Amino acid sequence: MEDDPAVLIRNAAFRWPDGEFALRIDAFALARGERQLLLGPSGAGKSTLLNLIGGFLRPQSGQITILGRELSDLGQTALDRFRADHFGVIFQMFNLLPYLSVLDNVLIPLRFSRQRRQQAGDAHACAERLLSRLGVAPDLHRRPAAQLSVGQQQRVAAARALIGAPQIILADEPTSALDHDNAGKFLDLLQTELQATGAALLMVSHDARIADHFDRVIDLTSIARTEGRNSEACCG
Ligand code: ADP
Ligand code: MG
Repeated sequence: MEDDPAVLIRNAAFRWPDGEFALRIDAFALARGERQLLLGPSGAGKSTLLNLIGGFLRPQSGQITILGRELSDLGQTALDRFRADHFGVIFQMFNLLPYLSVLDNVLIPLRFSRQRRQQAGDAHACAERLLSRLGVAPDLHRRPAAQLSVGQQQRVAAARALIGAPQIILADEPTSALDHDNAGKFLDLLQTELQATGAALLMVSHDARIADHFDRVIDLTSIARTEGRNSEACCG
């Protein structure tokens, strides 16, 4: 198990129920601890792929193997638990709960994972430490998340993904709402935290300018075949 890559995909095929868009991945791997950027234009299937890897969507065929576990072997409850233990997710719109405090937002993943609760130790101290290291000042920690700027919310979303040291961080265009300088600063901070825990990062983006921050950069078109609405955008 320890030798298995963080993510391994073999011959996976997924089609949305409306039948319009289909994605086929013959082979893809994310090594443990690797920071990989997957580039593709809007509509290319980047979010669909992240949702397949995180088990939010299930492929119609093929294997998606996470840390040695084949996801299709897991029933829904086991899959939810597995995801809570091993994945930190940064969504494009951050998905913070607006009326909850910053601190309580960061603590959410610990509710769903005993493993991450144990790894976090003193949960509040851990959340405060992570927030501060990511540049969210202590006077903001008890404010409702909705009161923060976009840049601050994004750092809160990163702290929430990182708390309790999951082995894989999935990030869906988390820098798209930021200017280039702030995107760079955010990625530097994220990298420091990834180094501390050894987590792997798979980020998807349409923005090739952030490529310097990654160990490996690949185009979605080099691993995926698509058909449907926007396939010309990525297969051109
Ligand atoms: P990207 O993240 O690269 O912009 P997406 O994975 O969001 O691309 O979308 C890829 C394709 O899947 C698009 O054609 C989109 O319309 C389609 N799609 C996304 N979500 C759904 C859905 N819930 N139902 C049907 N089609 C969808
Ligand atoms: Mg997307």
